[in-house]
Amino acid sequence: MNYFPVFFDLVGQKVLIVGGGDVALRKVSLLERTGASITVVAPEIAPELMARSTAGTLKLAMREFEPSDLDGVRLVIVATSRRAVNRWIAKLSDSRNIPVNVVDDARASRFIVPAIIDRDPVLVAISTGGASPVLARRLRERLEALIPARIGELASWLKALRKTAREKLRDTDERRRFFEAVVDGPAARRFVEGDNPGAQRIAQQLLATTRAAPRAVGDVTLVGAGPGDPELLTLKALRALQDADVILHDRLVPAAVLDLARRDAARICVGKAAGTPAGKAAGKAAGEGGSTQEEINALLIDLATEGKRVVRLKGGDPFVFGRGGEELQALAKARINFSVVPGITAALGAAAYAGIPLTHRDFAHSVTFVTGHAQGDGKDLGQEPDWRALAMPGATAVFYMGLTRLNYIVEKLLEHGAPATRPAGIIAQGTTANQRVITATLATIRSIASDASLESPALLVVGDVVSLHSTLAWFGTAAGIDLSQTA
Ligand code: SAH
Repeated sequence: MNYFPVFFDLVGQKVLIVGGGDVALRKVSLLERTGASITVVAPEIAPELMARSTAGTLKLAMREFEPSDLDGVRLVIVATSRRAVNRWIAKLSDSRNIPVNVVDDARASRFIVPAIIDRDPVLVAISTGGASPVLARRLRERLEALIPARIGELASWLKALRKTAREKLRDTDERRRFFEAVVDGPAARRFVEGDNPGAQRIAQQLLATTRAAPRAVGDVTLVGAGPGDPELLTLKALRALQDADVILHDRLVPAAVLDLARRDAARICVGKAAGTPAGKAAGKAAGEGGSTQEEINALLIDLATEGKRVVRLKGGDPFVFGRGGEELQALAKARINFSVVPGITAALGAAAYAGIPLTHRDFAHSVTFVTGHAQGDGKDLGQEPDWRALAMPGATAVFYMGLTRLNYIVEKLLEHGAPATRPAGIIAQGTTANQRVITATLATIRSIASDASLESPALLVVGDVVSLHSTLAWFGTAAGIDLSQTA
């Protein structure tokens, strides 16, 4: 280690900058944040620096440097364009024991300035010991992407919590456990996500339980995995996957998404694939899950009670035909903390990748997401959608889980007044490399679909917007090719 890292308290301290150009301006901008009392000496001074001196934040001396400028100074930064002058000033400063930095001249400097990430009060400083400023900057960029934007606010919040913790928890060990649980657990996660009240609530809960049960508080994050393409995950979903201890996922969740999870997170497939009622999925062989909804709920509760960070990962969006609501109700009843990360639902993802705008001023003014599938557990049997509304002109209807009931759906729409010429399409395995799109009309979709032998999961889209596919298809194709005949 060539350099000793320190953070220098400069509040009210005299800092001298020799030089009046752009480099000096950059240094001034940085130093201003520290509350230092800054003087700039240079015969010529950039207009922006002039403006700041009128604003009263720094002093300017428009002349050549004089040795007496160093009187009472704590820190010197030299940034003139004349190398010999720079070195002379550096020597002079050094002989008076004033730390000096010559910009871009590590050898002449007593200290060097790191690349920084400033999320006040959190400050990350990076140095390559002067070996490569470019490398330091690249490192900083990488770290910047890793460090939550709200880390500074988090630090301030933790500081405020220290006072409360001191009052409530006498023992230093208890306090350490409390802060570990806050920082490593759902409280800090909530805070960086912007949910301050949620974070506060969990912290209070921890404060109350740390003494009695010195165990971390687990929680469940219900995460939407999107329709298939892993790049359609939200940043929050990615963070949750990388923070998880355990991931409970449906069979619909693509492997490419699971690959993004933290390596040592346990993965449990609870096996609810599309169109397969929970509990009736193909067997219960290892890894193939097939758990009932009750089993899934119980597992979520058990894992969170053990203190695990649990991610419940569902295809698309968890609140769209995903039973996410039911699982949360069970968690709420068991008083388990939970949060929800929305995902791109299949209709939005698949329509986008198929070049079918779900609304369009010339073709459709509404879109309805319908489940084409009765769950078979008695809960939604007998609940028919409003076929008349779905059959209206200017309406787009997207049927989830509709492939097995294609005949029924088409009959119902025709029966309720939809013309046989109404465009209809099926998007299978949307947004994935295996995406297939077929388009037809209500009259022809059944025969075309059975000829095409499409693989699930698939969506049925009915409405005039489907006709746009022939001109707007872009994924897996080149622009301008007429795809209307594609099967
Ligand atoms: N919560 C999910 C939907 C679960 S229901 C969501 O928001 O997307 C499962 C149904 O979603 C499937 O039967 C199918 O109709 C549809 N689906 C899911 N992924 C799909 C995909 N990649 N392409 C087409 N349809 C898909």
